[in-house]
Amino acid sequence: MTIEFETPKPIAQTQFVLKTVAENMMRSTSREMDECEHEIPFGYIEFMHSAMRSIGGGSLAPKEDKPKEGGEQKEKRPPIAYQNLASLIEMLSWGDVGFYLVTPGGGLGAAAVQSAGTPEQRAKFLARFNEEKPTFAAMCMTEAGAGSDTSAIRTRAVLDEAANEWVINGEKIFVTAGEKSFNSYEQFGKGFIVVWASIDPTAGRAGMRAFVVEAGTPGVKVVGLEHKLGIRASDTATIALVDARVPFDNILGSPTVEKTTTGFKGAMATFDMTRPLVAASGIGVARAALEFLKEKLAESRVEIRYGLPRNKLTSVEKDVIDMEIQLRSAWLLVLKAVWMADNKKPNALESSMSKVRAGDVVTKITQKAVEIMGPLGYSREFLLEKWFRDAKITDIYEGTGQINRLVVARQVLGYSGKELR
Ligand SMILES: Cc1cc2nc3c(=O)[nH]c(=O)nc-3n(C[C@H](O)[C@H](O)[C@H](O)COP(=O)(O)OP(=O)(O)OC[C@H]3O[C@@H](n4cnc5c(N)ncnc54)[C@H](O)[C@@H]3O)c2cc1C
Repeated sequence: MTIEFETPKPIAQTQFVLKTVAENMMRSTSREMDECEHEIPFGYIEFMHSAMRSIGGGSLAPKEDKPKEGGEQKEKRPPIAYQNLASLIEMLSWGDVGFYLVTPGGGLGAAAVQSAGTPEQRAKFLARFNEEKPTFAAMCMTEAGAGSDTSAIRTRAVLDEAANEWVINGEKIFVTAGEKSFNSYEQFGKGFIVVWASIDPTAGRAGMRAFVVEAGTPGVKVVGLEHKLGIRASDTATIALVDARVPFDNILGSPTVEKTTTGFKGAMATFDMTRPLVAASGIGVARAALEFLKEKLAESRVEIRYGLPRNKLTSVEKDVIDMEIQLRSAWLLVLKAVWMADNKKPNALESSMSKVRAGDVVTKITQKAVEIMGPLGYSREFLLEKWFRDAKITDIYEGTGQINRLVVARQVLGYSGKELR
């Protein structure tokens, strides 16, 4: 199997369309959405839903590469579902990462179903993202006291055998798109949240399971929304579950606890798929900042003289070239991680590596761009200060930089989670 470095044609075509959306729809309202935190951009959501459907997707979720109906595919091309997704997310985040996070689709919720669900559950819960109305899904793992250490979750699911239902109690915090996924809006289709809970606290990680909790389930309530530094267009919810009942079949994976870490593996498998996508999103923000900086430098007639020996370059030229190197190297790590996902190769190492690198790179590039621009980098006249604020989240959600470094170290050195923590 070879890795193609040239962007496949279908991806390039979609990128072209999304660049127009990013330039005309996202950038023009970025500032407003940042200032009116938590406001839902219904127009954008509806537009993107129909745009993604007409492009051939329906949602921001990896599509299976199926042969076209009525015959064989003309030529056998390598699978590119995750590469496609990473490229689209990079482009949308270049437009505005907060907006990207309100793009309808399955998000982390669908990724959890994809990774931990059975084929029947995938068919049942993921089909809705291709339907007429835009639909959202979210994943609820984090709790007060259980963020980096996901095995410390205290949310509990107990089986009520007579009713054949799970009864869930707990509180989840920092749920991206939690409000749009759970609260029913006329304009949206019925979404869901995937709630991680323990079915047997004595079993530790082996007892962890994910449950699909449909929007509007009694006993579940969005009890708060975070006010944030960046990605302010994206809602980040606190969700309380009090005796919330879900059908028996909404458990993802096995309902019995074996002496393995099945449940936890489901969570990790989800992150292996989504961490490169978070990295791609960060790279989109970094590219926006770097391109803006170069544009402004060009306007001031500051030229970047590529090809000169380093000792002949000005300090700004060195900085810009270094930023370009960082950006490209980070993108190559994303390409490797998604290529492995597309080719069904275990990618825990590459996935975490790509996220660590992208988290560092987007933080450094946006910070350097603000520094070089001086007061204009700090001013709200331009979006650069916003990108600087938006950057940091890459290094926090879906495993902080430190946690992903631990994952990388364990993989490289051959240590288990218990041996290196
Ligand atoms: C905007 C936003 C959106 C989010 N969206 C979601 C979501 O959709 N779903 C969801 O479930 N969660 C979500 N999260 C939660 C996010 O995944 C957690 O915040 C993150 O995993 C860190 O957990 P924590 O906040 O409990 O920090 P802690 O685990 O308390 O960590 C605090 C600090 O200690 C460091 N640290 C912890 N353990 C170690 C260690 N062993 N070695 C070295 N350093 C360590 C961390 O890296 C961090 O710097 C979101 C968070 C934010 C801010």
